[in-house]
Amino acid sequence: MVESKKGILNFYFKSNLLVRILIGLILGAIFGMIFQNATSAIEILKPFGDVFIRLLKMIMIPVIVCTLIVGASSISPAHLGKVGVKIIAFYMATSLCAIVIGLFVGSVLQPGIGLELAHIAGVAKEAKSPGLVEILLNIIPTNPFGSIANAEVLPTICFCLFFGIALAFCKDSESQAVRNAADNVYLFFEGMSSVMFKVVGWVMQYAPIGVFALIFIVFSKSGAEAFGPLANVTLSLYIGLALQISLVYCVACLFVGLNPLIFIRKVRPPMITAFVTRSSGATLPVSMETAEKDMGVPRSIYGFTLPVGATINMDGTTIYLGVCAIFIANVVGMPLDFAQQLTVVITALLASIGTAGVPGAGAIMLLMVLESVGLKVEAGSVIAIAYGMILGIDAILDMGRTSMNVVGDMMGAVFVAKSERELDEEIWNS
Ligand code: ASP
Repeated sequence: MVESKKGILNFYFKSNLLVRILIGLILGAIFGMIFQNATSAIEILKPFGDVFIRLLKMIMIPVIVCTLIVGASSISPAHLGKVGVKIIAFYMATSLCAIVIGLFVGSVLQPGIGLELAHIAGVAKEAKSPGLVEILLNIIPTNPFGSIANAEVLPTICFCLFFGIALAFCKDSESQAVRNAADNVYLFFEGMSSVMFKVVGWVMQYAPIGVFALIFIVFSKSGAEAFGPLANVTLSLYIGLALQISLVYCVACLFVGLNPLIFIRKVRPPMITAFVTRSSGATLPVSMETAEKDMGVPRSIYGFTLPVGATINMDGTTIYLGVCAIFIANVVGMPLDFAQQLTVVITALLASIGTAGVPGAGAIMLLMVLESVGLKVEAGSVIAIAYGMILGIDAILDMGRTSMNVVGDMMGAVFVAKSERELDEEIWNS
């Protein structure tokens, strides 16, 4: 009995997860189009979608807390000399450009317009948009544990950043006792992070079923017209990524007197590896080898800048967050106003620091960005359905954004090496 059960489960678990999610998406779309407005099928499938959304929300805050603390504390203040300050400023500046590009492309192409899902799950709750001063003030939590408990995104991020940076200083303390204690705290959060990603892995095993249910509902209600907006969101992301290369990285190259075409030619191996693995972390060995052997960046620079970049610098993810926030806001019929876009800028910038360099991490950060602008992803809500649509094509989006995350890290390493006059020009020009 147990054996045969294992056999059936093996069939499911042994197959490729990405393929299964894609199959969930395709089957959901096909069956949805066949069974137009099938109220009873929708009633039956709705809880399956709801389970998926609830599972994702269950892991959201623990993942953010652990990964942000680990991310912020991984920058050792002792290494934070001129190179450290320069690279962090560079990463922050390019991420800021990325989120502005993401919002710009989203505002021009308006993915999601025309597919108003509000009729599917009723009118979504009114998104609140506080004023600028309020947004900035609300970032500082008066009770961080209250903020964590209430899933208030920006105050949670703010506290975790303080905590992580303080932890980094304690890890470098002159007192052995403080260092030991800080190492234990760090190991605790690092362990927690690994545990949470184990849970994420399990939740993702359920994704094909959840995506099937959510997509079925969309296509059953809206028919084939849901394809266009999904293609539009993919196109918007890839246009954003192309703009990031041509406007930001090429200008950065020119700024330090380097030929951008050489950079684009040489960055291809890590870029392709990232595209295939969808993980900045897993691409790190290839990035390091390319930086040293093909680009002439010395180990003293890439040894610090690339691992830090793979942890905190996520330009592609930031563009994705901007484009998808606009898509979801459009689909639910509540376009983002200026204050909300500003909140997206701040949240996405900070979220990218906390995005782990593993496949799919950005999709969890998207939950957080949506919450920060008042688009609460609640089970059964229209926002959850729109989010499910994005998740259905996450693999395609993840490939592009991870590539750009890695290209951004490589650009940072080259930029700092050149501006510190440590780039080996002979290797660079070879
Ligand atoms: N997969 C991305 C990376 O490894 C993170 C993300 O999901 O956005 O860089």
